Amino acid sequence: MVQSIVRNAVRGGSTADPDVLSAQYALRYFASYLVRPKGQRLNIPQGMQQISKALSDRLACDVLELNAPVWRVSPPEEGCYGLEVEMPSNGITTFRASHVVFAIPVPGIAELAPWFPAWKLDAIEKVQTNPTVTLAIVLDSASKANWDDIFLITAADAHFNTVLQTRASADQVPSQRERTHFNCYLSADPETAAPGDDAATTSAWLEAFFRILPDARGRVLGTRLARWPRCFAYPAPGREKVLDQVQAPVDSAHLAGDFTSVTAGSHGALQEDGRAAREMLQASARS
Ligand SMILES: Cc1cc2nc3c(=O)[nH]c(=O)nc-3n(C[C@H](O)[C@H](O)[C@H](O)COP(=O)(O)OP(=O)(O)OC[C@H]3O[C@@H](n4cnc5c(N)ncnc54)[C@H](O)[C@@H]3O)c2cc1C
Repeated sequence: MVQSIVRNAVRGGSTADPDVLSAQYALRYFASYLVRPKGQRLNIPQGMQQISKALSDRLACDVLELNAPVWRVSPPEEGCYGLEVEMPSNGITTFRASHVVFAIPVPGIAELAPWFPAWKLDAIEKVQTNPTVTLAIVLDSASKANWDDIFLITAADAHFNTVLQTRASADQVPSQRERTHFNCYLSADPETAAPGDDAATTSAWLEAFFRILPDARGRVLGTRLARWPRCFAYPAPGREKVLDQVQAPVDSAHLAGDFTSVTAGSHGALQEDGRAAREMLQASARS
């Protein structure tokens, strides 16, 4: 039972089983559940994309195009890569670029650039990712001050691994706002992460949630189920051995994201922009 509680707590937070994780990484998450650091488990009310939108707003309007998926990157011809981009206003458009930064989840890179050399494709294939499914539940918490103290619940025999209470700021007292947010996490379960019947999954997970927190029944204000086929590039043992090759550019194609970072997750990703920018500036200075 104790093993299953620890296994679920690690899996829910770090997206993989303890057996395939670096201990330092898994313990960082596990320790945070016990320490309950005030500044952790904060959510951005409108979602992570608010960071990209805020950065974009600070640039001139013709610098960055949001919501424009890249479908193909062709190998360089006369020093320029060809990018097939689905532009929001005028459909598929081909751009030519002297440098390209691949800042997408690692499994998508070989799909966009299957022509990368074998050493690069082999290295990125060794970076592990797992799917995750989340159910966000918003509860009316008027007069439920006892819920404020919940940080994490490990669900040993539910449909999900863990339930976390998230808040928009460290000092927020959810019951005073009469809104409490819980997030249920299930990691490393490809079957549940595949497209499916969201209403049925939500209803089954809610029932499991009510078994854990019975007085939540009748207080649900809203739910949102999300299936993340590619969650984050977690540091499995041995990842450090391929990190140099994962980070290394292929000519003027650069790679930056959680998968090129020493750690993982958003904190790893947020440090990689600087490394990729320095790489490009140094390459430009040489040419
Ligand atoms: C449910 C969940 C919980 C998480 N919890 C935590 C946590 O507690 N702590 C933590 O540190 N990390 C957490 N993470 C991981 C964190 O979100 C990622 O590690 C981080 O976002 C990776 O940043 P990135 O810039 O490398 O990639 P991403 O944030 O994935 O950004 C890649 C961007 O590229 C876009 N894109 C993809 N393909 C294309 C394409 N072909 N053309 C154009 N654009 C494309 C995507 O839309 C996306 O905007 C969590 C992730 C999930 C899904």
